[in-house]
Amino acid sequence: GTQVTPKVLEKPGKLKGIARAGVGVDNINVPEATKKGIIVMNKPGGNTLSAAEHTFALMIALSRGIVPACTSLKNGAWDRKKYMGNQLNHKVLGIIGLGRIGRAVAKMASGFDMKVLGYDPISVPKDAEALGIEVTDDLEKIYREADYITLHVPKNEQTLNMISAKQLKMMKKGARIVNCARGGIINEDDLYNALEAGIIAGAALDVFPKEPPENTRFKNIDNCIVTPHLGASTEEAQIEVAVEAAQILTDAIKGGPIKNAVNAP
Ligand code: NAD
Repeated sequence: GTQVTPKVLEKPGKLKGIARAGVGVDNINVPEATKKGIIVMNKPGGNTLSAAEHTFALMIALSRGIVPACTSLKNGAWDRKKYMGNQLNHKVLGIIGLGRIGRAVAKMASGFDMKVLGYDPISVPKDAEALGIEVTDDLEKIYREADYITLHVPKNEQTLNMISAKQLKMMKKGARIVNCARGGIINEDDLYNALEAGIIAGAALDVFPKEPPENTRFKNIDNCIVTPHLGASTEEAQIEVAVEAAQILTDAIKGGPIKNAVNAP
């Protein structure tokens, strides 16, 4: 939520460094900081497990209709037929982005005996096979074959709207998709249209192009569950990332090694 805009950086005074307690630096105007000679550092890692667990929580919630079933019972219904679910066991999970969180999700998926297909055009993890990931360089194979698709990529020019109407149409009718990465990687309007038209079975969004979201069409769609950017919101992760961010700042201030600078060049 904290935005380090060009205005904030206009008169930086003695400011030498900005540390982001997490991975995404999209709330910091990095080019402006770079112009002013300010180091921008991130500290990924501390919230990896929290984000992976949230992804899994959303996947399970989708597979069992937990959210609409809960709302329905609280509203006085007892509708067991409507909320017939699906098992995760032996389903195909497509993971797009095999970095820290993508790999942690793969590890959890092995406990559910899911078949994991992974795609990452930049860095394929050395331990992919040990994690049970079948790596593919054909992204469309994931769209065509996966029962569950989860995104763990950064938001950039290549990934913005990477899942739009065309990709959604390639998916199985029963496919369910989770975005715990960044808003805008899935085109929201195309997603809602696909959910309404039954092109895919469900979606869970933790992130939105604008937060809080302006587009609230999901209110009308039972098979879309939403959470307010809670991926890293656990007590454990918040302490870990705060300590790690403080550490990289103090290291840099004391003239020690500058770690995780995203604008070092
Ligand atoms: P990471 O840098 O470890 O991994 C990202 C991976 O995506 C890298 O392996 C990279 O090679 C890959 N990648 C880049 N472009 C790609 C593309 N076009 N197609 C496929 N793969 C591509 O990052 P991470 O720590 O795993 O975080 C993943 C995402 O989750 C980030 O967007 C981050 O901001 C987000 N995140 C969200 C929350 C939350 O609260 N919901 C919490 C933590 C992180």
